[in-house]
Amino acid sequence: MKAAYDLHIHSCLSPCADNDMTPENIAAMARLKGLSVISLTDHNAGHNLEAMALAAKAQDLIFVPGIEVTTREEVHVLVYFPGLRTAIDFGDRLYGSLPDIDNRPEIFGSQIVMDVAGIQSGTLDKLLLQATPYSIDDIVDMAKAAGGGAVPAHINRDSFSILSNLGFIPPGLFACVEIADALPCPAVDASLRKIFSSDAHSLGSISEPRNYFPGFSTVKDLILYIK
Ligand SMILES: [Zn+2]
Ligand SMILES: [Zn+2]
Repeated sequence: MKAAYDLHIHSCLSPCADNDMTPENIAAMARLKGLSVISLTDHNAGHNLEAMALAAKAQDLIFVPGIEVTTREEVHVLVYFPGLRTAIDFGDRLYGSLPDIDNRPEIFGSQIVMDVAGIQSGTLDKLLLQATPYSIDDIVDMAKAAGGGAVPAHINRDSFSILSNLGFIPPGLFACVEIADALPCPAVDASLRKIFSSDAHSLGSISEPRNYFPGFSTVKDLILYIK
């Protein structure tokens, strides 16, 4: 099976994403575009993962629960999980660790929580666009302990990336890196695997079917591929 994927998508929970990035709309757009595998990777929280899992299932998509963590070093690291419950718990831990600074929706955008019926059930108060107290090493360890895998995000971006903020990828720490597929791919150690995703914050930015996993068919396979 050759599965087209997009493993970096933000829902309306992320303040920087459009409010119409509801789980239902994301799943419908992914299906329309011909993707088979998607992940939801909101910033530092997993409150829309359950609704996204259901919406993905309704569209017959393979769903990989994910979160985009902001580390203490202000580096974005994607964490992917083998199961929904673990991902939600991880998200709760991250959200709980954020500094007590409220979101200002008029400046940063809304942080909308969707319930499993596809209805807005509330908003998150604390601003999700803050650094957690966890270091890159902490997040790698926490991802492993949760049975998942950590991947440094959009390493070819000049902000919030491991290359922009640290200047290098610590040897031996990661098996896989993420490349923002709208930008040129940098030269990286050939031993590192690569995934290419959109980092979509709007429906139209969700990937066209251009990135494929060779022989990939389950979430477990993906976790093995990246960790
Ligand atoms: Zn990011
Ligand atoms: Zn992102």
